[in-house]
Amino acid sequence: MTILSIIVSGLLLAVAVLAATVDGLVAQAGAPPNIVIIFADDLGYGDLGVFGAPSIRTPRLDAMAAEGQKWTSFYVQPVCSPSRAALLTGRLPVRNGMFGTPGGTAPKVFRDNAAAGLPPEEFTIAEVLKSRGYATGMVGKWHLGQRTEFLPMRQGFDSWLGLPFSHDMRMTVPRDKGLQTDAYYQPKPEYWDVPLMRNNDVIERPVDHRTLTKRYTEEAVRFITANRARPFFLYLAHSLPHIPLARSDAFVGHSAGGMYGDAVEEIDWSTGQVIDALRKTGIDRRTLVVFTSDNGPWLPFRTHGGSSGPLKEGKGTTWEGGVRAPAIFWWPGTVRPGAVTDMGSGLDLIVTAAALAGATLPRDRVLDGVDLSAVLRGSGPGPRDKLFYYWDSELRAIRKGNYKAHFITSGAYGEGEPRTVHTPPLLFDLAQDPGERFNVAAAHPDIVADLTREAEAHRLTVVPTEPLFDRLIALTPGQRMR
Ligand code: MG
Repeated sequence: MTILSIIVSGLLLAVAVLAATVDGLVAQAGAPPNIVIIFADDLGYGDLGVFGAPSIRTPRLDAMAAEGQKWTSFYVQPVCSPSRAALLTGRLPVRNGMFGTPGGTAPKVFRDNAAAGLPPEEFTIAEVLKSRGYATGMVGKWHLGQRTEFLPMRQGFDSWLGLPFSHDMRMTVPRDKGLQTDAYYQPKPEYWDVPLMRNNDVIERPVDHRTLTKRYTEEAVRFITANRARPFFLYLAHSLPHIPLARSDAFVGHSAGGMYGDAVEEIDWSTGQVIDALRKTGIDRRTLVVFTSDNGPWLPFRTHGGSSGPLKEGKGTTWEGGVRAPAIFWWPGTVRPGAVTDMGSGLDLIVTAAALAGATLPRDRVLDGVDLSAVLRGSGPGPRDKLFYYWDSELRAIRKGNYKAHFITSGAYGEGEPRTVHTPPLLFDLAQDPGERFNVAAAHPDIVADLTREAEAHRLTVVPTEPLFDRLIALTPGQRMR
């Protein structure tokens, strides 16, 4: 060995030791944890192995639940855009315009010709964590406004690879009302003129939706690896298993559960890649990973629509199947493993993230979330005792403890069961009857009265705002955006 090579080896060793020490110091100094939120699209309560799916295999998510916590009463909003806004801001959609005019044909999400978006003055998880020095990355579906001034880069994210809206928008072939067109069941990328964007630029159009889960995963792993030495927030919002179903070649015929099963099993693989990347970079013990879904399964799409398992109905309703999502929290050494029946909500993630990061939340607005970190650590009970169920700006139901009162019900998107006002409200004991089959209102007039009072008190906290989904860009004749 020459003197020079000895010096070079020595220097390399010194650099390696220094790098390891810096990594170690960051971990030891009580640096705030990394936070990863994985948000599947239209994945039902019954669609993971660990939540009882009979023919879809999800070994990586099942393992994550065994090592962490499986939450059986975790709630989101009944449809896409409101659910994403609630997750990122900790505010009910009724507070920030994330609804359309109730009834009629007004949109229930941001359409591909939406003129509005999540208002820039709304404060997101990315902005909260950025104030504590986090790197903030988003990968996947946004669906909170497609104009540049409403994209993720304006809501606290340093980088974004993904779609501005759902991959079933800008359909180029006729969309039939019965949702039974072959385009949905034998989908080809050219049936939808959907852009893939990096930051503020379109990089592919139409996107090949079969490649989305794989490309999102590769981008997420790159982001984790690049930011391993500093705290980061990663929001990985999958486009699937929302219709049109798609998966990469390796997952064609992978599942006994058909195309829907294939799409879910690829998301299971993807989650495994994220966990593996955290382990490989040695940061798994300082990273909280949350996995859940934006709303229930889209049942009118039959075998392409997933399952809410033991729960009633699906996406687009305020029955449990529309809003109760499979949820898993994982953080080796910190999250105490077990099954959690306490109530939690997507609204709670910003408050929990701020508590874990030591960040300050805005005080000039109502936040609807609570801090779940005591439950995650196993050091205290869940602080959430109530839950409000909205469709558009309409308060339709309330849950307090195990009882849920429905004031208004309807089928998905106003189809099926017509909108029905219940006086007195329907009452279900969700502990004994999670499928909402047995109305016990007559036996519990005191509970009905209490829940009705709680709903009235809550209504007083809501200041009506403009329904932002109604604001659309006017199209010139011949232009057809959906
Ligand atoms: Mg959805």
